[in-house]
Amino acid sequence: MCGIFALTRHPDASQMAFLGLFALQHRGQESAGLATLREGIINIHRGAGLVSDVFPPEILGKLKGEAALGHVRYSTAGGEAAANIQPLAARVNGVRVALAHNGNLVNAPELREDLERRGAIFQGTADTEIILHLLAQAPGADLGAKLKHVSGLLEGAFTLVLLTPSHMYACVDSLGYRPLSLGRFISEADSNGSSWAVSSETCAFDLVGAKFERDLMPGEMIEIQLSDGALKSSYLPDSGSSANEQSRRCVFEQIYFARPDSNLWGQSTFLFRERLGAELAQQAPANADLVIPIPDSGVPMAMGYARASGIPYAVGLIRNHYVGRTFIEPTQNIRNFRLRLKLNPLRHVIEGKRLVVVDDSIVRGTTSRRIVELLREAGASEVHMRIGSPPVKFPCFYGIDTPKRRELLAQQMNLEQMRENLHVDSLAYLATETLHGMALPAHKSAQGNSGFCDSCFSGKYSDSFAQRRLGEEPAQIEKSGRNGVMS
Ligand code: SF4
Repeated sequence: MCGIFALTRHPDASQMAFLGLFALQHRGQESAGLATLREGIINIHRGAGLVSDVFPPEILGKLKGEAALGHVRYSTAGGEAAANIQPLAARVNGVRVALAHNGNLVNAPELREDLERRGAIFQGTADTEIILHLLAQAPGADLGAKLKHVSGLLEGAFTLVLLTPSHMYACVDSLGYRPLSLGRFISEADSNGSSWAVSSETCAFDLVGAKFERDLMPGEMIEIQLSDGALKSSYLPDSGSSANEQSRRCVFEQIYFARPDSNLWGQSTFLFRERLGAELAQQAPANADLVIPIPDSGVPMAMGYARASGIPYAVGLIRNHYVGRTFIEPTQNIRNFRLRLKLNPLRHVIEGKRLVVVDDSIVRGTTSRRIVELLREAGASEVHMRIGSPPVKFPCFYGIDTPKRRELLAQQMNLEQMRENLHVDSLAYLATETLHGMALPAHKSAQGNSGFCDSCFSGKYSDSFAQRRLGEEPAQIEKSGRNGVMS
């Protein structure tokens, strides 16, 4: 759960990167960082907090440069320590390098142990630092060759962007878990359009005025020469010639994580979610008066459900967008206090109504259960919960922060038990096959695979390391949790 934005050959590179990170803020709110290149020198400013906190005008004004690499972080590996804030920087064979990473390495413990045994000293605990150590030891005439060598040692998800005084490199692992798009600034002064941008999501291009060019393919590496903007594309050694054959794009990016105004892997995220909602209406109809979303992520799915079912769409919950992460709860006795900070039901809409309540997913179930309580307190006569994805039964080891198996509601209960636990009149999920059917034909493999990863639904992982990580955690809940279910 991180976002990367970088650009080259632009007179306002740091300002543009700041805006790009601002657009990607939803991908990580713990910390932000920016590496800028000015006259051959790379400077880095990083800090804990939101992009606007880390880069007030007086700091941003000093970060001048013609190229920049930015990162927003939500730690899924390594914790929140300051040393883990990206971009990380090091000298690799005498060349200063700034590195930003999105994704999780599933073989990080093994790689770290091996490096430490050979004398490496780590500053932080994040898996990204491992990549810098490996680069420093890798054979190869230039950083591109070293990166290709190192990619063969990494397992799991890694979308990487590197900035050096002469080049910018970007690559996506051979299974393509995390998105990275290429954009271009076209100005009158530079009609060749050799000012490039890369971004985790296309919504950042819209904000900074870059034109979307294309997505990087699974296993693709691009190398941009900063002196003239020349761009070369090649593939990582283990990705084969046809990069789509075995791709495992994270379908949860499309379901929940990416912004609805981004295009992910050739599809509008908003329309994708709307279609999921329409499919859900066909698969799991309900007798109801209104369809309401759980805001914000459930909105497109609820619109799709309403359109396909003919049941009117309504806004039944109002979300407060200004709830800080560090708000102190004054007393545990105030029931639903935390949730009420975020969501307030519209009684005049809900009272006496049979509701279809649409959300993108259920993870622990704690929030869903409290939302149902709020709706019932506001007078809903029936609550039919519809979820626009299959049950999340397994953890993600590739960079999305899902909890351990024992904390996942669908891992601990069958559908009827979940219905009772959530206190809803009916509960239905989307079928896994429907998700796979939503992949664009261009992204389906010759074997008919959709090209989407679905490990958190199926428990089938693409590598032995993830399988091992799963085996290391207990599957059963510790019974001390609230209601005997979740803590
Ligand atoms: S396990 Fe789930 S969340 Fe993780 S990469 Fe796969 S689809 Fe995405």
